[in-house]
Formats: sequence, C-alpha cells, structure tokens
Amino acid sequence: ANGASPQLPGVLPKVPFDVDLVRRDFPILQERVNGRPLVWFDNAATTQKPQAVIDRISYFYQHENSNIHRAAHELAARATDAYEEAREKVRAFLNAASSNEIVFVRGATEAINLVAQSWGLQNIGAGDEIIVSHLEHHANIVPWKHLADEKGAVLKVIPVDDDGQILLDEYAKLLGPKTRLVAFTQVSNAVGTVTPAQQISAMAHAVGAKVLVDGAQSVSHMKVDLQELDADWFVFSGHKVFGPTGIGVVYGKEALLNATQPWQGGGNMIEDVKFERIRYQAAPNKFEAGTGNIADAVGLGAALDYVTRLGLDNIAAYEHYLLEYATRQIREIPGLRLVGTAAHKASVLSFVLDGYSTEEVGKALNHEGIAVRSGHHCAQPILRRFGLEATVRPSLAFYNTCGEVDLLSDTLNMLRSARP
Ligand code: PLP
Repeated sequence: ANGASPQLPGVLPKVPFDVDLVRRDFPILQERVNGRPLVWFDNAATTQKPQAVIDRISYFYQHENSNIHRAAHELAARATDAYEEAREKVRAFLNAASSNEIVFVRGATEAINLVAQSWGLQNIGAGDEIIVSHLEHHANIVPWKHLADEKGAVLKVIPVDDDGQILLDEYAKLLGPKTRLVAFTQVSNAVGTVTPAQQISAMAHAVGAKVLVDGAQSVSHMKVDLQELDADWFVFSGHKVFGPTGIGVVYGKEALLNATQPWQGGGNMIEDVKFERIRYQAAPNKFEAGTGNIADAVGLGAALDYVTRLGLDNIAAYEHYLLEYATRQIREIPGLRLVGTAAHKASVLSFVLDGYSTEEVGKALNHEGIAVRSGHHCAQPILRRFGLEATVRPSLAFYNTCGEVDLLSDTLNMLRSARP
C-alpha cells in the first residue's frame, strides 16, 4: 500500500519507477516509529543508505582496511585502489575532466571553508567583492563573511522574488570589475528553488569572477554535468546522496587547484620536506593532509554507483511527479502557507500552519512516524525574506511514495480541524 502511486485524474502522468522495489534496498525504511512505519521526509538533512553502501563499508573493514599510499604491502594496495576508484567514480558522476580535480573532505561545509581559507585568503583583497545569493545555507555564507571581514572585502547578495527565484536582472547589476567570486547553491535546502546555475556561472565568468556552486542539495535529485556548468569549484556532501557521513567532495578545476596554496599541512600532501623549504604534491593530494576518511570515501563510491544504476533521469522524473503530487495536496490545506513556489523546484516543501508552531507540527507528525525538519534549516536569511524564523520542511527522495504524502496531508488536515 505504501508504494501506491494514485494518478491524479487527468493531471499528472504516472512515471514508470518501481518504488516498492527500490524501497527494499533501504533496510531502515522497515523501522517503526511510535508504532507506525517510518516515513522519512527529512532527506534534505540527510538521506538513508542502501544495503549496497552498508555492505561496501563493511567489506572494506573486513578485507581491505589499511592506510593508503604510504606502505608497500597488499592491504595498502587494496585500500589505495578502493580509495582511488571512489575518486574516479566521483569524477564520472560529475563529468569532471580529471580525477585530479576531485578532493575528498568531510562534507560541503569543510569544502567551502577549504576554498575560502586557501584560494580566498590568497586572492581576495580590500575592496574586492564576493557575491552570494539570498537562498544560501549558512555553510555558503559564514566562510565568505569571515573572509570578507578579515580582508576588508564586500559581501553582496543576489535578491530573490516572492516565489524564491533568483532575480537575474538584479544579479547582473551586482557584477562588475571588483567581483572576484560568485558562490551560490544549485538547489535551496530551505525552499527548494533550483537556480539557473549555468547562467549565473556564465555571467560571473563574463566579468572575470570565479564561481563556486554548492551542490549539497542538487546531486541527489538531478544530473550534474560540470562540463556544462563550468563552475570553478563544485562541492557536495556524501551523506546527502545516500552515502556515509564524514565524507564530501571539492571539485576544482585542475589548473586552479594547482595554482592555489594548500589549506592544511601534514602527511600525504607533501613531495619533499626540509626545515628550510617544503615542496607540495599536485592536486588532489596537496589538499588531503593527514589520513582521510578512506572507508567512507569507498562507501560514497558505492552510493554513486547505486544512484547511477537507478538513473538520475528516472529519479528526477519520479521525484518531479511526487513533488507535484505533494504540492497539490499541501496547497489545499486551509491555513497552510507554502513558502518557496518557484517554477523549478526539487524535493523541498517548506510551510507554516496557522494556529501551530513549527515545533508542534513536527511533533505531531513524528507521532505518526513521519520525520520532517522544523526550524530555520541553517538558512535564516531566506526564511526572513519571507518574514519567518522557522518552517516545517518535508523533503522528498526517490524512495518516498504517494501513500506517504497522503499520510502527511491527512495528518495536517486533522491538525487543522482540531484548531480551526
Ligand atoms: N549547503 C547546503 C545547500 C546544504 O543543504 C547543506 C546541509 O544541509 C550544506 C551546504 C552543508 O552540508 P554539510 O552539513 O553536510 O557539510
């Protein structure tokens, strides 16, 4: 019954996607919460893991575990091969030109801090301008604000319209000879807007600025092609794309990475050390000081294999169907205000309900086994743009079903009738 995908009469084409089959790959979806089947609608915070990822990490620790690169024995070779294969999988997943452009870090937050603290410290000066959008997660605001304050640079913000869409005309007015960097998200975690990333990137490059794209919320929902996007850096977190926590990626154009001073220093990243001078390795090793998260990088590789097997186009089509289905239902609930109504959206429904705090709604949904996020979603500026401090945020993934959406809207309708 969970997998039932009722077709709205004459409106939405049903997408051929076997969600019941896919759900069997995710053991946690069998959990019960408060005596009810778990409904995982907190995918923007983190995604659940398929058995293939769990097994791959377990296999690593059973058969391959070693530190990489440094020792000349069999297990070091196995671990190194597995780690470098994972790097190649990330390269292929993003269509990067070379695996030398793929740096493993802890997640999107560390990725952005790496760029701000290496390239940023070296290249941003007094009076320079950094542009972010109003949609950003704090992870793509705070590191740039720190940098701007430290260097006497200026942080400028691309405004959005009342639907949460980037105002490209206003953006064009912000660009100029002092613009050094445009850093923006491909999908908003708080309101679900898909930004015109290729256009934003091209406009930045036209004035000679660098571009960082935050892909934390995009990689699990749409095909990313870095050759088309042409970002100078692209970052994401493994745990939001069905991989483990503690692993993420900075993609950087190879020449740019090699022209940038390293961030952290230590083992792995050097070619030769003398007390008088140090020579660094080329990218990506130059940015991977110390022992990294080898097992979880390998797990991330398995997650990307899994997503690729399902097909991102199939995932996007099914999720589009599901999001439309959910949006239609949610919008009919009296007293519910949906925030973020962009024409192009992914995954996220952000709302407030008359008569209830967001916390109360979250608790009531949890009582029914439904996990959603209530709060500011680490994106206070965009919520305040809509006059809010918090919203309730169900966020969908390809293992969610129309049956689960029905349960969500039924519960919200019940809440509303209890406090008319
Ligand atoms: N950027 C966006 C758009 C996000 O949604 C998130 C996490 O919610 C991040 C960055 C930070 O990701 P992490 O906490 O995995 O480093």
